[in-house]
This record gives sequence, structure tokens and C-alpha cells, in this order.
Amino acid sequence: MKFAVQSRNDPQSNELMERAISYLTDFGLEIDEEKPDIVLSIGGDGTLLHAFHRYSHILSDVAFVGIHTGHLGFYADWKPIEIEKLVISIAKSDYKVIDYPLLEVVINYQNSDENYTYLALNESTVKSPEVTLVMDVELNGRPFERFRGDGLCVSTPSGSTAYNKALGGAILHPSIEAIQVTEMASINNRVFRTVGSSLVLPAHHSCVLKPVKAKDFMVTVDHVQLLHKNVKSIQYKVAKEKVRFARFRAFPFWQRVHDSFIDSDLK
Ligand code: NAP
Repeated sequence: MKFAVQSRNDPQSNELMERAISYLTDFGLEIDEEKPDIVLSIGGDGTLLHAFHRYSHILSDVAFVGIHTGHLGFYADWKPIEIEKLVISIAKSDYKVIDYPLLEVVINYQNSDENYTYLALNESTVKSPEVTLVMDVELNGRPFERFRGDGLCVSTPSGSTAYNKALGGAILHPSIEAIQVTEMASINNRVFRTVGSSLVLPAHHSCVLKPVKAKDFMVTVDHVQLLHKNVKSIQYKVAKEKVRFARFRAFPFWQRVHDSFIDSDLK
């Protein structure tokens, strides 16, 4: 089996990375940065986002596992003191692979056949370089609303505990194949109207955002932010690709939600 390690690059994560590489190579595993079977991410959830984007072209062949060197993470749920236990399980292939849904983002441009397709593990957001974002929202090809406000966030189920949660969106269990559209400070008064609630769309639905006047938008895909000019539309749907995680033990999602947001010491 071949492995790669992604570190947050702080002293503790780098030290753990050195130990993981030495243990795994002692067990006869081969380090392969290009085409690993398993990627060990050491840092936080942000580090796993970086690892995901580094290997997003080989998602069907690679499984991710995360060790957290800060607080408990959603993707990074192993403690540094468990590293030996973890590498033994990796070496013995003593794990199950579970997969989570991803978000597909397709950006089309005015006067061009060119488009860009991205995959998000957490979410994609759209904001305006001007003060207010104004975009028409279509659901399954039908006009739904004209959005005016700070921006829109479209998240995956596993990303629902990240930016989406801070915006008041619901937490979705990652076994649900869906995406969630959540508003950022919409303008709502007698003249302007949006639905106000988060929308959860199933896998066969799509959400398309179309510019009204301004055509340039700040679009994020996880930790990556780019200014896209002359945008014609931004399409969101559940991706056909999935992300695979190596699971070595039961750690139910709702337990992770509890431990992260309520109380990590409560028994
Ligand atoms: P960052 O500022 O380092 O990360 C923001 C925080 O989000 C970190 O505490 C990170 O955990 C946490 N996080 C990431 N994915 C998560 C998940 N699925 N569930 C719960 N928490 C999660 O930025 P970054 O490392 O470049 O990460 C980009 C992410 O930041 C975006 O995908 C977005 O979700 C998040 N973000 C959140 C807000 C907000 O909450 N208001 C605003 C902007 C962006 P770790 O410390 O373990 O890495």
C-alpha cells in the first residue's frame, strides 16, 4: 500500500509527520506523493481541505484520515497520542471506507464557451466585490427569487458544520446526498424579498445563480477564493464524485457534533 502525509506545517504536526512516515515505512508501506492509496492529514480540518484539493483528481482511488494537532475536528478526529495505534491499523488495512457527498460548482462566462468546474468538500460561497450581491436564483431551471444581500453559501453535508453553521444553516448528516443553500444577511423589506430559510436540495436538483447587473463575483471553493469576471451563471449540484474516508472505529457524526459544539468532556 502507498501513502502520503499532508502536514499543517507547524512543529507538532511536522514532528508527527516524521514519526508517521518512519513507522509506516518500517511496516513496509511505500511513500508516494503522486498516487497514494491513503492520505494522512495532520493538523486540523483546514489541513484536510488542503489534502482533499491536492488529490481531488484521484478521489476514487484515495482514502483520507486526519489527526488533529489542535482541537477536535470533523475530518481530523484522531488524537496525536493515538498515532501508533493508527499506523498499525493502516499497515494491517484494518479499516472501512466510507464516502461523503461533494458539491459540484460549474462557472460559465459571458461570450465564451469556456467553463470551470470545481469540487468542494465544505462549501462554495458567492459574494460581490461591490457592497451588495444581487443575483437571480433558479431551482431546477425555474426562477425562484432575486437575492440581495451579503452573499450565498452552498454547502455539502460534511461542510454544514463549518461556514454554513455560522450562518444559521442546518447541520446535515453526511449520509444524506444533498446540498444546502444558505443566505448571508439578505435584504428583506416591503420591496425586496427572499425565502429567508436554508434550502436543502436533493441529488437530482440544481441551483443556478445568474447575475442581474454586475458580472464579477468573488467565489470561494473551500479555502480558495477567486475573482471571476464576466460570469454568466454559477451552477451548483451534488457531485457524482465522492470523498472517501478511512474509518478505523465507530465515531458517530452526532457524537462529533456534540463533542465539537456542546461539551467534549460530557460522558
Ligand atoms: P480557517 O479560517 O483556518 O478555518 C476556519 C475554521 O473552520 C477552522 O476552525 C476549521 O477547523 C473549521 N472547519 C473547517 N472545516 C470544517 C468543518 N467541516 N466542520 C467544522 N469546522 C470546520 O480557514 P481554512 O483552513 O482556509 O478553511 C476554510 C474554511 O473556513 C471554509 O471551508 C469555511 O467553511 C470556513 N469558514 C468559516 C467561516 C465562519 O465560520 N464564519 C467563515 C469563513 C470560512 P480547523 O481549525 O480544525 O482547521
